[in-house]
Amino acid sequence: MTISTMYDALTARYTFACPEREQTHVALSAFRLLERLPGAAHPAVYGVRFACACGGEHPGLVGHDDLDWAPLGGSSGQFVDLMTARTGEVGNELLELAASQLKAGEWPWSFYCYPEDRPRPVFPSSFVAVAPGDSWLGLAVRCPVCGALSVNLVSHAHVDLPFANDQRIGVVDHVFAEDALRSLEEFQAELHSSRFDERRLHLD
Ligand SMILES: [Zn+2]
Ligand SMILES: [Zn+2]
Repeated sequence: MTISTMYDALTARYTFACPEREQTHVALSAFRLLERLPGAAHPAVYGVRFACACGGEHPGLVGHDDLDWAPLGGSSGQFVDLMTARTGEVGNELLELAASQLKAGEWPWSFYCYPEDRPRPVFPSSFVAVAPGDSWLGLAVRCPVCGALSVNLVSHAHVDLPFANDQRIGVVDHVFAEDALRSLEEFQAELHSSRFDERRLHLD
């Protein structure tokens, strides 16, 4: 199994193969379905379906590190310092920034767990499905603590950028069955028939 995903921390985009254009660069919010593949444990591998700029949806593979840590600077991408015209490691600077934000009690990603009735920190590997909307996204998350599926309505930035948590989000007011989100069509149908409560994602 070849995993050719690359994450560019400067643009917050993953690179995947596209059958139409060879390569495409997509943000986390363009992911539609994510599933941890059985087998490979170290590192774990996730099978995703993503919405491509060519208009299609394609499958891709993402390693656990790329999914959760690359957006925090965990991959050692190189960048050019415009002031000194030297190349540097963008990874180290981003990691330092992420570390200081974590120490300050900020979470890179968060969601509201409906059955537990509280916000929880989370990593993208706990995302299950993303449904596109006009100004919001439906985000299905499997709670890393209680294991239940919750669906939140969030901004694109909330998904794409670490430490860009929405202050207020929508929370679907019921627990989802295990098999409710087998396809994006089912997820969107669920979203359209659901009620949302507003919740604060404030962390204190
Ligand atoms: Zn494509
Ligand atoms: Zn929970």
